[in-house]
Amino acid sequence: MFSATRLYFDHNATTPIAPVAREAVLGSMDEAWANPSSLHQDGQRARQCFEQARARVAAFLGCTPKEIVFTGGGTEAANLAVLGAVRASARQDRHVLTTAIEHPAVLEACAQLEREGVAVTYLQPTRQGVIDPEQFRRHLKKTTVLASVMHANNETGAVHGIAALAAMAREAGVLFHSDGVQAAGKLRLSLAGAGVDFYSISAHKLNAPKGCGALYIRSGAALTPMIHGGRQERGRRAGTESVTLAAALGAAVTMERADWTPLRDRLEQGLVSRIPGVRVNAGQAARLPNTSNLAFDGITAESLVIALDLRGFAVSTGAACSSGSVEPSHVLLAMGLTPEQARSSVRFSLGLGNTVEQVDLLLEAAVEAVARLRRLSPAYSEAAR
Ligand code: PLP
Repeated sequence: MFSATRLYFDHNATTPIAPVAREAVLGSMDEAWANPSSLHQDGQRARQCFEQARARVAAFLGCTPKEIVFTGGGTEAANLAVLGAVRASARQDRHVLTTAIEHPAVLEACAQLEREGVAVTYLQPTRQGVIDPEQFRRHLKKTTVLASVMHANNETGAVHGIAALAAMAREAGVLFHSDGVQAAGKLRLSLAGAGVDFYSISAHKLNAPKGCGALYIRSGAALTPMIHGGRQERGRRAGTESVTLAAALGAAVTMERADWTPLRDRLEQGLVSRIPGVRVNAGQAARLPNTSNLAFDGITAESLVIALDLRGFAVSTGAACSSGSVEPSHVLLAMGLTPEQARSSVRFSLGLGNTVEQVDLLLEAAVEAVARLRRLSPAYSEAAR
């Protein structure tokens, strides 16, 4: 499953396929390839496989199967929640409350709503990369129809207490969506009674294939569909269902998941203690157990990512979608880092397959690579003198 020569520490970008998910893909292709809307036995076998997947996702999220809609990924799930909830409101003067540190899946859906005349407030995070709950409460207005706050940030791993925020939203009569793409499988969660109206997840962050996700829609929460066509998914998402991808997600969420905190801390403490001029971004915040985002003085993130890549290690400059562009991270800038600090920040994210031995190898390689890059950087040598 994993390459022997490459060590992967970029699980927030995407995850390797788990053996159970792979088996579910192959099994469903052999046994459940028919159209799940067909009345014949072949169709009904596909329907059964699909509904089993839905029941598994519902059990994983702590909700009822009817509250789950399968989508084509986390982006589609978040778009469906944000666009669908706002468009379902009959109000003329609609307002959305969200944060400046959301993933583009939410930010760009909000930008689209702005183009449609909806007012949007983007809350700024604290220096630790989280939204202050009191600030959130103060910005809920009479016209607010939806609030959307991510459960955990993909770049820093900083976690929001979404039950408390959802309770404030509910008190104000506002629907609440949380992008749970990074939190699912890493944080304990039960949506029953959490007060959340919509919750997005993505299969490829959970060791299943890309192109599949799910949206939790609290029973009774109104939503206008985005895709128009057949009556699949109770009219909430048209199109013949991907039984195969749903089956893989359903299988992946039944897996036991490790707590990555000890390995993450070993890596982080090793880097901070062995390399001068390193800071943990969002280090004081409640964080995902698998994520460490570090600013390395005097080097650019890209140069360290490439240096580690050449040594066989996959790490990231932050959001995968924006790597390849030289723009500093919007999340780190919103937290108050300077563009230079943001450009020197590297994300390490652990997951299935990582071991203590791998972490120790990464540590050695990173210590050596940072020292080498700094020797090549006149700016750093001068500043350090
Ligand atoms: N939301 C967050 C927090 C993410 O990290 C991602 C993926 O990077 C997404 C949404 C988008 O999910 P997908 O890649 O399945 O569209």
